[in-house]
Amino acid sequence: MVFMVNLLDRTRPTVAEPQALERMDVSDRRAIVARVRKLSPGLSDSDVFVSSLRGGRSEAQNRLAGLKPREYGSTRNHLDGAVSRLSPYIRHGVINAADVRDHALDVSDAKAAEKFIQQLTWRDYWQRLYKEFPQNIWQDVEPYKTGFASTDYSRDLPRDIMDGATGVACIDQFISELIETGYLHNHARLYLAGYICHWRRVQWQAGARWFLTHLLDGDPASNNLSWQWVASTFSHKPYYFNLENVSKFSGSNIDTSAENNVPLSGSYEALYARLFPNLDPRQ
Ligand SMILES: Cc1cc2nc3c(=O)[nH]c(=O)nc-3n(C[C@H](O)[C@H](O)[C@H](O)COP(=O)(O)OP(=O)(O)OC[C@H]3O[C@@H](n4cnc5c(N)ncnc54)[C@H](O)[C@@H]3O)c2cc1C
Repeated sequence: MVFMVNLLDRTRPTVAEPQALERMDVSDRRAIVARVRKLSPGLSDSDVFVSSLRGGRSEAQNRLAGLKPREYGSTRNHLDGAVSRLSPYIRHGVINAADVRDHALDVSDAKAAEKFIQQLTWRDYWQRLYKEFPQNIWQDVEPYKTGFASTDYSRDLPRDIMDGATGVACIDQFISELIETGYLHNHARLYLAGYICHWRRVQWQAGARWFLTHLLDGDPASNNLSWQWVASTFSHKPYYFNLENVSKFSGSNIDTSAENNVPLSGSYEALYARLFPNLDPRQ
């Protein structure tokens, strides 16, 4: 099977080099990777990872066929739960969110499919907000509710976070997964965003920008508005967590030992006092 690498209208002037119009064999993954690198001169030398995730309509349909809405409802918060991993395909229009919903209703009764469909509607909600209020994608919707002003937060993402070398074991594992695969489970995204905003006091925009450079489903609406929700600029309180929570929802692949995750250890009350010292103690 072959496909045209460049689908631009040939009658109009384009910036693509003539060789970009050559046909290529899509079954040769290494050749595709080499071609994409060649066509992306701005790609950072340090971004050397190629996700094992495969693109294409048939791959998306295989994943859809594996969807188990009932199991999703009871396990979706666990990192090894029955999540669909359909987001990159939905994001890039390979598969339509309405078709995904209809499939869920075909393979299970409405009650069992409810949780899955509810999550799909979050995507729709963020998209509608983006269309209605595009300025909210990069601006704080509201002030932080953390006892700090946005100027108290660093504008830049620290190097150790970009490198996955924070010294907090589970956080470094989530960072590696993000960089190497282009995908993170929703709960891992929440942990990582919470750590960056509240433990490291970095502006959510810096984290959101970084996520968008790595996520295969990277989408300004779902990503940035979720970051604002974690930061508390688009919710009434900050999202934070403790090591016990990470431990509860992580499989055995994630290091949640207390000695390797010291900054995350403690009760919610103790962490609240440490992270948000200007607020009244948590009741
Ligand atoms: C900080 C942060 C950043 C995020 N960035 C993105 C992003 O750039 N692109 C993106 O598509 N999602 C983003 N999400 C939402 C969510 O994490 C992913 O959609 C989900 O993890 C994708 O995995 P899945 O396909 O296995 O989801 P499933 O749990 O199987 O859900 C099915 C589909 O529903 C949609 N969906 C599920 N949960 C959400 C949600 N909370 N918000 C919006 N849509 C949802 C997705 O299209 C997903 O593919 C972000 C969440 C957080 C907390």
